[in-house]
Amino acid sequence: MRRISIFGATGSIGDSTVDLIRRDPESYRVVALTGGGNIAKLAALAREFRAEIAVTAYPERLAELRVLLAGTQTEAAAGPQALLEAADRPADWIMSAIVGAAGLPPGLRALRHGTTLALANKESLVCAGPLLMETARRHGATILPVDSEHSAVFQALQAEDLSSVERVIITASGGAFRDWPLEDLPGATLAQASSHPNWAMGQRITIDSASMFNKALELIETREFFGIDPAKIEAVVHPESIIHAMVAHNDGGILAHLGAPDMRHAIGYALNWPERRALPVERLDFVKLGSLTFRPACETRYPALRLAREVMAAGGLHGAAFNGAKERALDHFIAGRIRFTEMSDVVARVLEDLAAGSALSGPVTLEEVTRVDQIARDTADAALRLGEAAH
Ligand code: NDP
Repeated sequence: MRRISIFGATGSIGDSTVDLIRRDPESYRVVALTGGGNIAKLAALAREFRAEIAVTAYPERLAELRVLLAGTQTEAAAGPQALLEAADRPADWIMSAIVGAAGLPPGLRALRHGTTLALANKESLVCAGPLLMETARRHGATILPVDSEHSAVFQALQAEDLSSVERVIITASGGAFRDWPLEDLPGATLAQASSHPNWAMGQRITIDSASMFNKALELIETREFFGIDPAKIEAVVHPESIIHAMVAHNDGGILAHLGAPDMRHAIGYALNWPERRALPVERLDFVKLGSLTFRPACETRYPALRLAREVMAAGGLHGAAFNGAKERALDHFIAGRIRFTEMSDVVARVLEDLAAGSALSGPVTLEEVTRVDQIARDTADAALRLGEAAH
């Protein structure tokens, strides 16, 4: 029986992971399940899987969790320290699916125990790629990518030599506004940005798909995870979301990974790795599909992609600044304080301000990443206040 923990069990990736576990309950023992504000769901999952421990990120919700777990063997805990302690519990496989930079500390802690970390939380790699990869190496831990594009590249690279790779092409659906006239984008509403044409995902990543901040994070994730030169990494818009990534070699051959847009493939691949096992995902019918189409990922429509290039070129703590500013800009868009197109303006402004001083010159340690993340959020807030004053 494999011991598994799911960080972010109450979210969209959590749902897909739980769906796979539920189909084969005899094979797994659930150690830790964590969530944020959805206490009822966390408690229900903990009861169903008889988890050892259930952790909410929010200390003020602990009493509620305790009540809902009364009469069970599951311990209830809350707060950032409890998340770290849950990551200390021995597990063979851990899903890292907390949303945002909050996923970094528990993921990093889990790696120190030499575990296998299935990494959905791309923000960890964007903020602290070198730290995460080095920690895994030092402790003999394994990181398996769960983002569909990175799982696709990982699969296409099996038994291949990185030195022959000419290009890695990750695809993007283009998000909710891929067909909108550019001049309409400033008027995009929260509801419109929160609806994805192909994938069912959490709200934040769905909005990030519309702005392509998600793809920007993924370009950086590709760089950090595979160690590929940024000049060889491309994004292309592929509205059908059937090809997830392609790896082009120097002999002209290209290996593409195709599959239905269903996260259970990438999660199941990571769960069963290094084996392949049957998964409950739709099988593609190419005759029904008819054609697959591609468009350039235009940096005028998606300025986040240009910013990702700058971040990859600068390296170091720029990723943490980029992600922190992006998360804050997204908070402000969700709260209705800025327009859709102003998110990239805020992030550009923060990167410019922070790069001009010495804020981003330190080493990529957890302490420095945490410091830069906070400065980036504060600078984003300040940029917003300045913008309001100017209106
Ligand atoms: P969701 O918003 O659906 O779920 C996020 C999870 O994190 C929930 O369990 C949530 O708890 C929890 N959470 C929220 N805030 C905190 C916090 N401050 N501390 C601890 N836990 C917190 O997100 P997704 O499942 O869509 O995405 C999760 C991660 O996976 C992200 O990094 C995303 O980029 C990545 N990813 C997602 C894909 C998808 O298809 N959804 C595809 C590829 C990558 P609660 O809901 O209880 O508040």
